[in-house]
Amino acid sequence: QKPVPSDIVISRSCVPKSIDCLAKEVGLLTDEVQLYGKTKAKVQLNIIKRLQAQPDGKYVVVTGITPTPLGEGKSTTTIGLVQALGAHLKLNVFACVRQPSQGPTFGIKGGAAGGGYSQVIPMEEFNLHLTGDIHAITAANNLVAAAIDARIFHEATQSDKALYNRLVPLSGGERKFSPIQLNRLKKLGIEKTDPNALTEEEITRFARLDIDPSSVTWQRVLDTNDRFLRKITIGQSPTEKGYTREAQFDITVASEIMAVLALTSSLEDMRQRLAKMVVATSRSGQPITSEDLGVSGALTVLMKDAIKPNLMQTLEGTPVFVHAGPFANIAHGNSSILADKIALKLVGANGFVVTEAGFGADIGMEKFFNIKCRYSGLRPHVVVLVATVRALKMHGGGPTVTAGVPLPKEYTEENLELLEKGCSNMRKQIENAQHFGVPVVVAVNGFKTDTEAELDLICSIAKAAGAFDAVRCFHWAEGGAGAVALGEAVQRASTAPSNFKFLYDLELPIADKIRIIAQKIYGADDIELLPEAQRKVELYTKQGFSSLPICMAKTHLSLSHEADKKGVPTGFILPIRDIRASVGAGFLYPLVGTMPTIPGLPTRPCFYDIDLDPETEQVNGLF
Ligand code: ADP
Repeated sequence: QKPVPSDIVISRSCVPKSIDCLAKEVGLLTDEVQLYGKTKAKVQLNIIKRLQAQPDGKYVVVTGITPTPLGEGKSTTTIGLVQALGAHLKLNVFACVRQPSQGPTFGIKGGAAGGGYSQVIPMEEFNLHLTGDIHAITAANNLVAAAIDARIFHEATQSDKALYNRLVPLSGGERKFSPIQLNRLKKLGIEKTDPNALTEEEITRFARLDIDPSSVTWQRVLDTNDRFLRKITIGQSPTEKGYTREAQFDITVASEIMAVLALTSSLEDMRQRLAKMVVATSRSGQPITSEDLGVSGALTVLMKDAIKPNLMQTLEGTPVFVHAGPFANIAHGNSSILADKIALKLVGANGFVVTEAGFGADIGMEKFFNIKCRYSGLRPHVVVLVATVRALKMHGGGPTVTAGVPLPKEYTEENLELLEKGCSNMRKQIENAQHFGVPVVVAVNGFKTDTEAELDLICSIAKAAGAFDAVRCFHWAEGGAGAVALGEAVQRASTAPSNFKFLYDLELPIADKIRIIAQKIYGADDIELLPEAQRKVELYTKQGFSSLPICMAKTHLSLSHEADKKGVPTGFILPIRDIRASVGAGFLYPLVGTMPTIPGLPTRPCFYDIDLDPETEQVNGLF
């Protein structure tokens, strides 16, 4: 076998077709496409209306066993599978993947365009700024953060009357409410439109949000792995007159606005979700929203282009939508509903849309079903569960690995005993997919050190565990041609009977929903709500948010809350430290154990290898 060159060498060796040609090929009209250079375009949302009557294609979700530092290749398999279905089996296809975060790209994991001969190209465009969606989210998020603290400050330092006069200023000798202020009056039950007609009591109620500074749940965000922003003190300049507050940064891709982008169904729906986002509680216990702060219209303006899916292509010229963000551990980590919906219409009844749910089936897939499918109304036909020999060996008790040090022989030589033990994790993740009643195809992503006997063992254990099929694939080394058998298995599975169901009923109490996920999916004995989480359960139940679905923030490296527990941990109680409410996105967000919401940089981050050739403007060192 020929050695496989580096990802960036392969990516560069292929000349992409111009994106307007690809757009035409997939059935987009010229005025439905907004070009961003030669290799990227955004798709206008009015296409949904045009294709309303078109039947949807088959819907496939790619997930994996519990990830290890050895890598499983879910993105690589997503791309390999669409290349096989599209370029080799000649079906209409679309891959729907997430835009990578700058955190891992410059931090520890590298990019997320797939790898080897199964990639989205050009990978440097894909892995870096793309069309600016993540920047737009950062801008929108931080506008809300600035609005909260400025409002607290202005309310604390001004009388009711002065505050009101500034909020409703004289302009041309007249005071007028803005449309957003009229919404607030309606919410307060004040049926007046003349700013001079408000009573003193109404002026106070209108002008004072009376935010309790200790209740602010909205955090600033940045798309960089920066551990020193996990806890900060803001307002330390004398100009803020001592109004300091402890706060924190989260990574942009885990923000509520990213989740709104992924879960929204239209511009109107996005406007409503952005308005409903709860940022704090008032001193009298009322939820304070971004609409109360007057900022939701501005947020919609900042997000108006980000809502449109980005069109790119694979190495074999099949179409890809890149939209929304990763991190299925601290966010829901699924690509957008809009991208999936548009793609399903574009491929038509006989086509396939392959969408990726981040990390292992216990988190990304669980959230795909219980959150994303609930909001989209879409029902997948097939789950593809990616497994590798080496990662399963680690679940079987194989040694830990260190970056930059050669892999221990357990991973490079045949070891059926270790592998068989580790297949317990795959068995559990197959069972997790079966909770939702959708057929599972296991994709064994082959590495060059795997032996025939090892690949066979995984396939037979997977089938015995109830998988519809289990297939070895070699798309990393061979491109789509190496995943034809996987494509055929997916085709067969897509016509098998499926009996889709959600894991929990939304009307159950918050703690019960968390317990069902913990017990059925993670294998926990029970959950323990720590005092802050208990307080939030009571607060959110009182505020009327208890019927939202649950988005657990849990380590992706174990089925349990402890990253070093491999395989199938048992006999543990899942600690819930705190719960946040993402009311606009539409979920409650329990924080399991000590899960940080912004990663840190390792000693030797990926950025050491990244540089620009000033002659050719080529980016070097990305992978
Ligand atoms: P995931 O989506 O599961 O995080 P990726 O698809 O991003 O994983 O792959 C992680 C890394 O592993 C990439 O650098 C990719 O090139 C590499 N990789 C994936 N599959 C293989 C394989 N079969 N052989 C060698 N390297 C692979």
